[in-house]
Amino acid sequence: MNSPSCKRCLLRELDGEYFKSIYRYIASLPGEQRSSSDEYARRLKICRACGDLHNGMCAQCGCFAEVRAAKRRLACPMGRWGQEE
Ligand code: SF4
Repeated sequence: MNSPSCKRCLLRELDGEYFKSIYRYIASLPGEQRSSSDEYARRLKICRACGDLHNGMCAQCGCFAEVRAAKRRLACPMGRWGQEE
């Protein structure tokens, strides 16, 4: 990846080519496993303001924040957002 290091950036704010496969993966998640669009946006707003986000990756769990937030049954490892029922 040639993008400069970016604290508190999501993947979509980094090199688009590199991360297209991640977005394809998110788009391929079965609907029942995916967060609602409102919840996804809410979670990413929290991640975007979190000091543990670096180059789109959560330093606490090692996940790409956009992938973790897209899965309704996952939660923030630090309790900043929870599972979606
Ligand atoms: S999942 Fe939690 S700890 Fe990780 S970046 Fe998002 S808010 Fe921060």
